[in-house]
Amino acid sequence: MSDYKWCHGPVCHEQPTQSRVRGSGDNKVLRTIKIKVGRYGNYDRGENNVSMWDYFCNQSCLMEYIRTHLTSIIAIAPRREALETRIKVEKEKYESHRYQWQGDDANGPTRVPYQATRTRIIAVDND
Ligand SMILES: [Zn+2]
Repeated sequence: MSDYKWCHGPVCHEQPTQSRVRGSGDNKVLRTIKIKVGRYGNYDRGENNVSMWDYFCNQSCLMEYIRTHLTSIIAIAPRREALETRIKVEKEKYESHRYQWQGDDANGPTRVPYQATRTRIIAVDND
């Protein structure tokens, strides 16, 4: 059983594409895109088993909806303070190299070793 929804993009019906043209003769219109629910299968389905692509025909309509309703959307779950995730930071030295040009050296650049440092962010049990 197929279920359909209309794209929620506020100006979806104003986009001049062939796929939106309906009617005949002098009675033609651009119509909001009709979306087949589940058209991308389980792609991008959250824990609530809902996909934004069941409600928006494309990213442009999604962003226009967010732009139009941003104040209301933010009011649903406002962020009043910063969140934090506990981590451990480890610095680690390792051998690396860079290439150095020697002026007019016809043999190309010289490989020069050096001691490099990399920083690793490690997850910590946050319970
Ligand atoms: Zn749309």
